[in-house]
Amino acid sequence: MSALSLDRLRRDGQAFSEEISRESYLAHAGHKLLAELTPIYERHAAILGRDALDFTLGLFRDSVKGTEEHRSARYLLEWQIESQAGRSLAALDEAEIELESSAYVQTADGRQVQYQAAAIEIANETDRPSRLALDDARAKLVEHEHAPLRMERLQREKEFIESLDIASSYNASFEEITGISLAGLAAECAAFLSDTQSMWDETLPYFLRASLGIKPSEATRSDALALLRASQFDSAFPGGAMMEAIRRQLAEMGLDPDAGGRITYEVGDRPGKRARAFCAPTRIPQEVYLVLRPHGGQTDYTTLLHEAGHAHHFANVREDYPFEFRWLGDNSVTESYAMLFDHRMEDPGWLLRYTELGKPKLQSFLRMAGFEELHFLRRYSAKLIFEVQAYGDDARMSDLPGLYVDTLTKATTFQYRAADAFVDFDPGYYSTRYLRAWQLQSLLNESLVTRFDSDWHRNPSAGPWLVQELWAEGQRETAEEIAVRVGVNGKKLSFAPLIRNIERLLGD
Ligand SMILES: [Zn+2]
Repeated sequence: MSALSLDRLRRDGQAFSEEISRESYLAHAGHKLLAELTPIYERHAAILGRDALDFTLGLFRDSVKGTEEHRSARYLLEWQIESQAGRSLAALDEAEIELESSAYVQTADGRQVQYQAAAIEIANETDRPSRLALDDARAKLVEHEHAPLRMERLQREKEFIESLDIASSYNASFEEITGISLAGLAAECAAFLSDTQSMWDETLPYFLRASLGIKPSEATRSDALALLRASQFDSAFPGGAMMEAIRRQLAEMGLDPDAGGRITYEVGDRPGKRARAFCAPTRIPQEVYLVLRPHGGQTDYTTLLHEAGHAHHFANVREDYPFEFRWLGDNSVTESYAMLFDHRMEDPGWLLRYTELGKPKLQSFLRMAGFEELHFLRRYSAKLIFEVQAYGDDARMSDLPGLYVDTLTKATTFQYRAADAFVDFDPGYYSTRYLRAWQLQSLLNESLVTRFDSDWHRNPSAGPWLVQELWAEGQRETAEEIAVRVGVNGKKLSFAPLIRNIERLLGD
């Protein structure tokens, strides 16, 4: 066995990442019942042990801040820690994937629904008593089977990171490794929640009454799923026309929808395919899969756009970049490209050109889109605030379900369930990536409008510009650096442009 070196870490790290990504893709897409992750971790044990971690820590501590060496070392260290945590949790992750793909929800009145499809069925259930009954049954399964796995995972992940002694606590370690301030972002989220409270209180009752005929005091999270499903707009978003519409738009902005055969789309229904869509790059940039299980209506358009943003990013990364800039880095960056695309669902020009919405329904759809945006931002802000406490030093596992219900219910008005506390939880603070991506996509959109006009989505120069200026760079730069480099007038990442956008969508 050769000794550790930067070259070896890059070479074996890439092989390991490719294998994990392929195995997860096969299992989540329903091509395989089980994900066999443990053998992959074992095969690559040489780069996933204490030696490799110490070697990478050395690279990180011995390099000068602000240099490319330090940047590389930071991403490699972050990856080492995540992968080593992943190795110690692989058996739990396998058990979770098996549960998700094989479990069935049984309602009291004898209805049987695949666990994976429960969220889809709940969103599509227009009869409220049946919806609540289905959610009761789902929550029972979560409480008895899924939540215990996730609670153990959270506990062990926390203990594992703390055992590495990078900093004094889990949260301090995360900040040290990623350079992201949790306290700073949580404070921004708290300010966002209070800044938009009156807007939320004025908006929610109307949508609840108009769509579901209920009052805020009775609304539950399962009602939120049905409300946001917005089936009244289904005729404007026919499933059969979706793929062609998005392909046409990508072509009009000067992109090859398949990126020269590097992107494969899997957008049909299949048992065992998980409900949450995903994009799996199994080789970057050569081989990228986009997997979506149709829910129906506008949701699918949003999801396909989102995943297409990821796919085109990964499929256009420079081949000559080292492993860490192609595979690793700040995931806020790839999420911002995904969100830049999915936010076309708030763009009047885009909606009129690529969907069947038409002028008469446009205003009411945009208002709905503004409501949805406000809801998701409030939900994610609350999620981050909850997660910072859950990963915090004083957290007691037994207090977390109550804290989750309080925090999420207060922010969204919808009644959350204690059973979901550990399941509705993005490990490793992925929520920080989403929140920063949300901020960055609004700056990217401004930048594209300045360069290519408000209909940049059909400007044949816009796609090649995105490829050259942004996607080719992989995730070499952080979200802040990209904001400075391509943003208009040196604007910094913040919620301010997002609030203005929501006001514009909600106003008539
Ligand atoms: Zn994403």
